[in-house]
Amino acid sequence: MPQLSTRVQKFTDSVIRRMTRISDEYGAINLSQGFPDFDPPKEILDTLAKVAYEGPHQYPITFGAENFREALARKQAKAIGREIDPETQIVVTCGGTEAMMAAMMTICNPGDKVMVFSPFYENYGADAILSGAEPIYIPLVPPNYDFDLNLVEEGFKQGAKAIIICNPSNPCGKVFSEEELTAIGELVKKYDAFAVTDEVYEHMVYAPNHHTCMASLPGMFEHTITCNSLSKTYSITGWRLGYLIGPEEVIEGAKKVHDFLTVGAAAPLQEAATVGLNFPDSYYEELLETYTEKRQYFLDGLDSVGLKHNVPQGTYFVLVDIQEFLDLPRFAGYTDLEFCEWMIKNVGVAAVPGSSFFKEDVNHLIRLHFARKKETIDEAIKRLGKIKELVKC
Ligand code: GLN
Repeated sequence: MPQLSTRVQKFTDSVIRRMTRISDEYGAINLSQGFPDFDPPKEILDTLAKVAYEGPHQYPITFGAENFREALARKQAKAIGREIDPETQIVVTCGGTEAMMAAMMTICNPGDKVMVFSPFYENYGADAILSGAEPIYIPLVPPNYDFDLNLVEEGFKQGAKAIIICNPSNPCGKVFSEEELTAIGELVKKYDAFAVTDEVYEHMVYAPNHHTCMASLPGMFEHTITCNSLSKTYSITGWRLGYLIGPEEVIEGAKKVHDFLTVGAAAPLQEAATVGLNFPDSYYEELLETYTEKRQYFLDGLDSVGLKHNVPQGTYFVLVDIQEFLDLPRFAGYTDLEFCEWMIKNVGVAAVPGSSFFKEDVNHLIRLHFARKKETIDEAIKRLGKIKELVKC
């Protein structure tokens, strides 16, 4: 067999998505890969049913159907605080995943350095390898996941072309404050670099925190590529609808990358999701209320069974500390991945091993999510409550 590319040998499949497959195999409650187990809004589903008969069913415009882009531009203009031109400043992609990949391929040459905060969403590692970029990791230090701005400046001095900012952050739930983003933004401008933001959890930011778009800060639109998705906001992760917003020159490049990677995101789904993009503000307020309640309910549940955890400022992820279990003789030598596999098989709950998000050697955390119906959370907590009994056996 001829050799495969070196590129493809440098990374593994996604551990997040692998955990879903293992979870399904054992019929566990899947709190690993983040997606809801409840329905998308009825208006979107009703439109989808209509679209099934009325179309469109053929290729959309490669960089996104016109009405979809127009609706996106209207919605995100509010968040970014300036007009967005749907013709020149948006590309619609197959999910936030393609948006990030297209952003990296548009701005990076092989060997370019890109800063990534650690912990990071695991896709960024593969994005860097596939685009030829070399990551410089900037630690986010618990418990508040603060970072040292000097390290960011150091990275730019080493020639970093861009900094990737997941805000709110998957997996640690950090919400970057306006002050932090301003400070990073000043460096981005000073060193004439890019900020690539992943804002897919923009509507899951819990009070008193609030979401700031990097692109909304003074002078930052020209330096920011905002990657986003409809997956979490409208509970349609399987529809794979994402987008990039940025200055014209960057979007021109990203359009070409996207054109040859995937041609376009599904036309009928863009049509049906447009109704969601046109929802009034009350939709996002209710969504946040729902997730605020779920967060409290889930964290109370974890407390009730004595599991130690962080309190996310945003997203629907929680990091749970499993050190007390790993210290037991029966788990001697276990990695966090092996512990997660044990949990799926013996506890019936799937989590993502924390090590897949950290550059540092971190083996004592697992990531769970709470985008679940109340009854699913109840059952998951009941099962998690049995860990302490089970580990004695
Ligand atoms: N963002 C989700 C997570 O971290 C998964 C997204 C995906 O698998 N494409 O679980």
